[in-house]
Order: sequence, then structure tokens, then C-alpha cells
Amino acid sequence: MKVSYDLHLHSCLSPCGDNDMTPNNIVHLASMIGLDVIAVSDHNAAKNLPAVCKVAQETDLLVIPAMELCSAEEIHLLCLFPTLEQALACSEAVYPYLPRVKNRPDIFGDQQILNEHDALIGTEPFLLINALTLSLDDLIAAVRPFSGYLIPAHINKDAYSIVSSLGAVPPEYGFRCAEVSDLNARVPFDGMKICNSDAHYLEHISEPVHFLEVEEKTVASVLRALGAPV
Ligand SMILES: [Zn+2]
Ligand SMILES: [Zn+2]
Repeated sequence: MKVSYDLHLHSCLSPCGDNDMTPNNIVHLASMIGLDVIAVSDHNAAKNLPAVCKVAQETDLLVIPAMELCSAEEIHLLCLFPTLEQALACSEAVYPYLPRVKNRPDIFGDQQILNEHDALIGTEPFLLINALTLSLDDLIAAVRPFSGYLIPAHINKDAYSIVSSLGAVPPEYGFRCAEVSDLNARVPFDGMKICNSDAHYLEHISEPVHFLEVEEKTVASVLRALGAPV
């Protein structure tokens, strides 16, 4: 079956994510515009995923638990997980590698943690957009125990991508899938390409224009369709 997807959305936990990017707003808008599968992938953190997943249970929308991790080389990678528990455990495992730089909400944003009713239950004190102090090799090793599936993000962009940082998608890493913001962009990657919105505002969430062929509408099937060994 074919499913429409947008696998790169930021909630209000990301400093650059608009405060209207709440679990309920994201899930219900995505569902209303006809998306089948989304991933909420906040910078280096997963603390809004419990609420997002809970809200999605009331809908037909499938949510892939995710984060957007930033390696020490300033490479952004989407990391998709088979389960919410694995995403949360991985986010705890990488948290010690987030530089202890205090967020300045007035400059960067509030970094809000919400519950399934969109009520504020906390804020993240450290700035989440910083690079983790983990090299790409160390990051790959760090997500492995949690079955995190890494997809180099926006590789056609001039900043914070594996291509902007390393000049290529080195084949030795074995990435099977990469993300582009434009499927027509010329990129040095022969594997599977997916196109996501990287939305930080509700109005930027993708219409259902990109599709994946999956066996069934489950997290495992979507991960398999993206080349994950699950
Ligand atoms: Zn990014
Ligand atoms: Zn992003």
C-alpha cells in the first residue's frame, strides 16, 4: 500500500519550533490534511514524543518516534526508532553529550515540553540546537543499542548536512536513505531519497504529496521501506 508521509517535523520543544507546534496541533493538522505517517524529530531530544504518540492514538495517523541529532561535525541526521521507549532511552543516552549551554528563551525559543492535552509540563534548560559532542562515528554507535535508524538530513542544503560538512555521503557509513528538501536537487547520493518539510511552523507541514510503498501501515513497515534492517 501507498502511504503519504512527512517524516521531519519540529515541535515546540525545538528552540526554533513555533509554540503552536503542539502535540495536538501537529497530529490533528497532519491528520486533517490527509497525511498517513509523520515523524516528530526535535533537535537532540524526544521529550514531546509521549504526548504526540498518545494524541495520535485517537487518530489514524501513524507516528514514527524520532529525533534530529546533530553530530560534532554539525551534521544533522534524522534518527527513527521502532518504538517510543527506544526513542526515549536513546534521548537519555545522548543527553550527557549535549553541551551545558543554557537556553535563552528570549533569543532562541521556549523549548516547551507538553502533555497530551498541550499543557506545559516542563521546559528543557539546555539549548538543544547545539551539536552533540559525539563524532559521526560515535553517534552511529550511540544510537545502535536503541535500533535508531539514521538518515542524513537535508543533504542538498549548504549547512548542517553531511554533504556540506564532509563533501559527500561517504559510502563506508552504509546509509541507505537520505533526506532532501527537493527531490530534483542534484546530490551526490545514489540511494533512496525522501523529501520532508522540516516544518517548524504548522503552515509548513507537507501536504500529502510524497509517498512510500509499505507492506502495512506500521512503524516497522515504514522503517523497512526506508531500508532499515528491521
Ligand atoms: Zn536540520
Ligand atoms: Zn529539522
